[in-house]
Amino acid sequence: FVAALGFLKWYLEIMAADAAGVVVKELRSTYTSGRTKSYEWRVSQLDALLRIATRHEREIVEALRSDLNKPEIEAFSHEISAVATSCRLAIKELHRWMAPEKAKTSILSFPSSAEIIAEPLGVVLVISTWNYPFMLSLDPVVGAIAAGNAVVLKPSEVAPAMSATLAKLLGQYMDASAVKVVEGAAPETTMLLEQKWDKIFYTGSSKVGRIILAAAAKHLTPVVLELGGKCPAVVDPNTNLKVTARRIIAGKWGCNNGQTCVSPDYVITTKDYASKLIEALSRELEVLYGKNPLESKDLSSIINSDHFDRLMKLLNDVSSEKIVHGGQCDRANLKIGPTIMLDVAGDSVIMKEEVFGPLLPIITVDKIRESFSVINGKEKPLAAYVFSNDKNLTEDFIRSISAGSITTNDTALQFAERGLPFGGVGESGMGAYHGKFSFDAFSHRKAVLRRGFRCDVAARYPPYNANKQRL
Ligand code: NAD
Repeated sequence: FVAALGFLKWYLEIMAADAAGVVVKELRSTYTSGRTKSYEWRVSQLDALLRIATRHEREIVEALRSDLNKPEIEAFSHEISAVATSCRLAIKELHRWMAPEKAKTSILSFPSSAEIIAEPLGVVLVISTWNYPFMLSLDPVVGAIAAGNAVVLKPSEVAPAMSATLAKLLGQYMDASAVKVVEGAAPETTMLLEQKWDKIFYTGSSKVGRIILAAAAKHLTPVVLELGGKCPAVVDPNTNLKVTARRIIAGKWGCNNGQTCVSPDYVITTKDYASKLIEALSRELEVLYGKNPLESKDLSSIINSDHFDRLMKLLNDVSSEKIVHGGQCDRANLKIGPTIMLDVAGDSVIMKEEVFGPLLPIITVDKIRESFSVINGKEKPLAAYVFSNDKNLTEDFIRSISAGSITTNDTALQFAERGLPFGGVGESGMGAYHGKFSFDAFSHRKAVLRRGFRCDVAARYPPYNANKQRL
């Protein structure tokens, strides 16, 4: 029986590997035909993506409700309208993005002219995650298509309703010989990773990011890794307390109940100010989510029982007297209310691992500038926030902290700015996208030097002599 099971597993693996190979072969043949390179094809596919986002709003909202119980407003603003905005921007700017860029030349190649041409990379793989399963799947696809590539999207199996919705809608609207969805979990992704890609764009944990990078190395495939980390929010006592509290809440619990890569992961403030900050956060949380947040329709559920249990472990590792707000949970409905902890130990699990949920530890320092060394003592975060009226402190924070992005006096909004590159640094990732940066992420900037046959300078040819060397 064991041998038969082993054979079946081996057979299924061969079939899956074969299926992945067939998909890549078909896409490569389309890419080689040149079809995906034309302006017209790119715009038609971007327009199809836009129609998916605008004509199927209800279906998308329902899938997000089924996977995450995501509030409708968050579904619209963080997912549907984000994708529609990216499509509209790419369609509007595509001519400009595709235009060759003039470059300067020197006396060395006189007479000549030079330009940089954005060339598609070929057949690319987008591997996505579950927390914004519509937006984080399609936003990179917008960049891949705008740049003229054939693309395979592998959505996250952890958000199964959205994975199925994407497979259905992309199958219905997109050019099937150039844009495909392959559903599945780690085994299917492993099969895809065995193929040769011209770029892999991965969003997810750093742990799997390392697997992706190792697989890509085999084929010398370039990667973008959009990973996570512990995003700090520093609150200076010289701040606007009410607005600070509301904006921390918006970026934490108002973004998928903290299951967001750019949500504040922990807060640092001074010992003297902590109680005021906690009071303000508690007051605003009650105004926004009511006395019993588990009943609020405006708070996403935890994605699944594994993640629920992971978060409960983080919570239970902290002694109960440190929990200064919340702590309510309901496993049957996968709900955890906004929870704040004060002065948890620096070596506790919650201060080591990314929280990625509704728990917010606050740690305190004597002087606010000590927060810089606390942050710099950890891996480089995807985002870092500072709340302060003090311009010197803010500027020093921007200069001293290395992070994927920094936002002052707000949280998470940098993600929505299409004029800014979005990506991590160090442990939080490599490469960036959004707007024109997405186009660049999926393009090769080909250097072209144009020369004629005039001015064929003898000095560059042998026989070499001392006079030539001086030239
Ligand atoms: P996940 O479980 O959905 O995994 C991400 C993808 O990796 C999925 O498509 C999954 O099928 C695939 N995968 C999982 N295990 C694999 C394996 N062993 N081999 C190959 N592929 C595998 O998502 P996750 O990892 O739980 O994502 C959460 C993390 O993602 C957090 O750290 C978060 O901060 C980060 N994140 C980053 C961004 C960003 O834009 N930087 C956005 C969202 C989430």
